[in-house]
Amino acid sequence: MTRQTSKGKCSFCNAVLSKAKMTKHLKSCEKRKAALGSSLAMSSARKTKIFHIIVEGRYLPKYWMHLDAPTTATLEDLDEFLRDTWVECCGHMSAFTIQGARYTTGLGIDAMWINFFGLDAERDMDVALGKVLVLGTKFSYEYDFGTTTELALKVVAEREGGIKGESIQLLARNEPPLIPCDVCGKIATQVCAQCIWDNEGWFCDKCARKHACGEDMLMPVVNSPRVGMCGYTG
Ligand SMILES: [Zn+2]
Ligand SMILES: [Zn+2]
Ligand SMILES: [Zn+2]
Ligand SMILES: [Zn+2]
Repeated sequence: MTRQTSKGKCSFCNAVLSKAKMTKHLKSCEKRKAALGSSLAMSSARKTKIFHIIVEGRYLPKYWMHLDAPTTATLEDLDEFLRDTWVECCGHMSAFTIQGARYTTGLGIDAMWINFFGLDAERDMDVALGKVLVLGTKFSYEYDFGTTTELALKVVAEREGGIKGESIQLLARNEPPLIPCDVCGKIATQVCAQCIWDNEGWFCDKCARKHACGEDMLMPVVNSPRVGMCGYTG
C-alpha cells in the first residue's frame, strides 16, 4: 500500500505545509501579497475577478494543486493547464462535469467514443469560467474515457485582481509522495502498469528489474494522479 502524504509547497515562499493548512496560508502569505501587489500596479487598468480553485485526484487526493484562474479564462484553458501539469499522455479526450452539464474536448485517439456515447450532443469547452462557476461550485474533470483519471475541483475563494493575459497560475501543489518499494521498502521509482490496478507494483530500480510482468510494463513514478496510467510519464 502507498503511504499517504499530503504536504505541499507554496509557489510564492516555498513553505511546505499540510494540505489542510495551505488554503489559509495562501490567504496570508506575504510573498503572495507582494506578488499580487505588483501585478495590481502593473495592470490596474484591467482588473478582473479571479477564482481560487483547488483540484485533487478524486481517488488519489494526495495529489492536489491550488490555482488562480481569472473568470475570463475558459474551460479549454483550464483543460490545457491540467493536461500540461498533470495528465497529458497521448491526446485523449477530456470532459468537465459542472452542475450536471458535460463539456468535452479533444478529438484524439478516443474519437470513436464520440458516437458511442453520443458526445456530439454535448457542449464544448469554449466557455468562460465565470459563466459556469461561482464561489463554492464543486465540479469534476475526466481525462481519457478509457483509462480514466478523475479529478475533483472546487472554487474556494474569489477576489478582484490584476492579471497578465488569461493565464492560470499555480499557487501551490503537493510534494511528490514517497511511496515505498513493495519488495524492499526503499523509495519506489517505477510502477508496474499492470499491478497498479491491484494497488501494488511499486518498485525501486533494483527490484523493478526482477519483476515478473517485465520491463515493458514499468513506468516512472511521477508526481501526478495519472502515475502508472496508459503512457503517462510526467
Ligand atoms: Zn507562501
Ligand atoms: Zn494515453
Ligand atoms: Zn526495492
Ligand atoms: Zn506487475
